[in-house]
Amino acid sequence: MNRTTIQEAAREIPVLMEADVVIVGGGTTGPIAAIAAARRGRKVVLIERFGSLGGILTLGLNTKPSGAIIGGIPLEIWNLARSVGGAGADYMATTKTGGVHIASPTDPEIMKMLLTRLCVEAGVQILFETFVSAPHVEHGSITGVIIESKSGRQFVGTKVLIDCSADADMAAKAGAPFVMGSGEREAKMQPVSMYFIMKNVDLKRLADWARTCDDVPARAIPADEAGLDYGLWLTGFNGMLRRFQAETGVKLQRENITLKTADGQMYVNATRVLGVNVFSPKEFTDAILECYRQIEGVCRFLKERVPGFEQARLGQVSPILGVRETRHIVGEYTLTGADSRGETRFDDSIAADNSALDIHDPKGGDVDFQSMPPYEIPYRCLLPQGVEQLLVAGRCISADHEAHARSRNMPACMATGQAAGVAAAIAVEQGVSVRRVPLDRVQAALRELQMPLHAEEVRAS
Ligand SMILES: Cc1cc2nc3c(=O)[nH]c(=O)nc-3n(C[C@H](O)[C@H](O)[C@H](O)COP(=O)(O)OP(=O)(O)OC[C@H]3O[C@@H](n4cnc5c(N)ncnc54)[C@H](O)[C@@H]3O)c2cc1C
Repeated sequence: MNRTTIQEAAREIPVLMEADVVIVGGGTTGPIAAIAAARRGRKVVLIERFGSLGGILTLGLNTKPSGAIIGGIPLEIWNLARSVGGAGADYMATTKTGGVHIASPTDPEIMKMLLTRLCVEAGVQILFETFVSAPHVEHGSITGVIIESKSGRQFVGTKVLIDCSADADMAAKAGAPFVMGSGEREAKMQPVSMYFIMKNVDLKRLADWARTCDDVPARAIPADEAGLDYGLWLTGFNGMLRRFQAETGVKLQRENITLKTADGQMYVNATRVLGVNVFSPKEFTDAILECYRQIEGVCRFLKERVPGFEQARLGQVSPILGVRETRHIVGEYTLTGADSRGETRFDDSIAADNSALDIHDPKGGDVDFQSMPPYEIPYRCLLPQGVEQLLVAGRCISADHEAHARSRNMPACMATGQAAGVAAAIAVEQGVSVRRVPLDRVQAALRELQMPLHAEEVRAS
């Protein structure tokens, strides 16, 4: 049989519930949006396809925001994590181009629990193991979403939809314009990677060795042993990796690898697959298989070549593939590279951000990771064109490929989630559209959350 399409019969879909604000995606960004909106008294539904919150931050084993967390609900969460031993102190990492402020990594298991607890305490209705297959649009305005679960297809109605799916799934399916990666015909997109954990690493032996090793030029090595649990960060190993590959025939994709600790375990960022169409189930699966192959090679490299790893074993492989870049919506404003270097002051800024620039070469094995001056993210970057009652937050906001290398970092994603949650709640309170929400009220509410909105406030802090 040579089928290219089939017909699906039309059917009635039961309405599961109605909300003021629906958030698609309970990853790094979505829970912050949900807490922000629910704390303003709105009826909020947070829908997540997996069985826990945090996305790349927790399930993806990423754990480490590349930049300071400078205010608002994200800082409240990080301080809460610290108070229960789920995070340590922030640190400065030394890189080729100067120091980069890194917010402490967090223990992903504690973070999952905290995010869930804060959502529940705020009154958020979470729907786990529920995939949102499409937005429902009437006369150009969002009125709800179609969900898929073990109960089949159902409808959740909403006054405002916040797309925190990371891939702008809702915006794209609602017909809003977007670009893939750099937006060129041969679009440049940062590669995909899969994190894993090595357990039983002798952290002290590793730290003592790394202090004197020229092949690990980017690093943060705490002076005291207790600081190793959350504060050891090492990037490099380039020469050792080259020699290992030449001598063993094992082929890896990255020129360097990054090791970092959280709760005394070693998190390894070392795999890479280029040019994957992550919307193709087949290519997505092939990328996972390739990451597994590379993980075996990196484990062997670490155990055979890096002091401290002699007795180490594979602890956990992330259950999800880490996708760095796909769709960026084309919003009312597109953040440019110059904006992201701190060159523009925006009257409608909803967050100042101090994340590092972090570009993984879309065509090779290199990583450009460096500190930059703080910059501002305008509300218009969260507003897709052509669809009403839709906001987008997280890594798929309207930003060009260069600006995305900063705005994709977790501090920026969480800040845009917070702003979207506040703006959605205020729009519902005021009975206006999210496009017409009074920005002075949104900014005042964000200031009440202790969120710096302009770059000079970060420089002064
Ligand atoms: C390998 C890797 C390393 C990185 N390293 C760093 C780093 O060191 N520091 C840093 O700050 N940033 C880093 N980043 C970037 C940063 O982690 C991400 O850009 C950020 O976490 C994205 O947040 P998000 O909320 O947009 O997406 P996610 O955290 O991916 O959350 C999206 C959520 O939406 C859910 N979802 C998606 N579609 C649907 C749907 N249709 N229905 C229901 N649920 C859905 C997903 O299951 C997921 O939980 C890294 C990224 C990767 C991939």
